[in-house]
Amino acid sequence: MHRAKVVLIAMLAPFSAMAAEFSGASAFEFTRAAVAFGPRPPGSPASKKLQEFIKAKLKSFRCEIVDDAFTASTPIGAVGMANVIARFPGTSGRAVVFSGHYDTKHMPGIDFVGANDGGSSTGLLLELARVFSSTKRRHDVYLVWFDGEEAYVQYTGTDGFYGSRHLARRWEQDGTLKKILALINVDMIGDRDLGILKEQYSKASLNALIWKVAGELGYGRYFLNESGAVLDDHFQFVQKMVPAANLIDFDYGPNNSYWHTPKDTMDKLSPKSFEVVGRVLLEVLRRLEAPAAAAPPSAVPSR
Ligand SMILES: [Zn+2]
Repeated sequence: MHRAKVVLIAMLAPFSAMAAEFSGASAFEFTRAAVAFGPRPPGSPASKKLQEFIKAKLKSFRCEIVDDAFTASTPIGAVGMANVIARFPGTSGRAVVFSGHYDTKHMPGIDFVGANDGGSSTGLLLELARVFSSTKRRHDVYLVWFDGEEAYVQYTGTDGFYGSRHLARRWEQDGTLKKILALINVDMIGDRDLGILKEQYSKASLNALIWKVAGELGYGRYFLNESGAVLDDHFQFVQKMVPAANLIDFDYGPNNSYWHTPKDTMDKLSPKSFEVVGRVLLEVLRRLEAPAAAAPPSAVPSR
């Protein structure tokens, strides 16, 4: 009797567990596919091709796809940009957002393919989409691929973060912002020598939850005690009082020397790094979905 039960569970478990588990190897392969399109600055043919690639994958993952095209006014003139948004509906009326950028920095004449910077966030989010296609959830989960994260000249109030600035405004107007329990942005998380900064514009209680989960999963050494303030796509939401955090490894190569250079290539990344970040994000989501009564008050970021 007992034995029969065990066998049955053992037979059933691997299928659901495999589908629902975040695979670093799969995220890495999605990243490789994105990087293969070449440099992907906003408005470029390669950017369009990558958008189509992301949307084709999302279609196979059975979620709602929201097109979010807009025209950005940049130092090089008007540029057509587009965020790609996937929505996996839940039942609670609240929402959790995972975001990252898919554009690469506009660097004419330089073969900058942004494997880590632009590529890794793209691949990690696609793997999350694959996982969510086979799991149920309480909260709406949004996955957002931002366009135009990179500045053309330098980050100012008007240069850089084009996609996130646009979406924060759109979601403020349509009421989505008020539903967001947490927004976690990822950027440059594929580095084989992974070390994630405790980013200081991020909401402290959300950082605390992420670092606690990372420690409990045995990934504490990748989540540094070092803090630093890094402006990134999450900041547009921080400014609008959304509980938001940014996971970024801003030490890429000796003295960050691979950053924004032709050295930012696939061989600098490792599937393991994707797996660490992806699994932490899924466990954070699981805890945010736990009924409020069962969770310690500190685990649920308040607005
Ligand atoms: Zn960059």
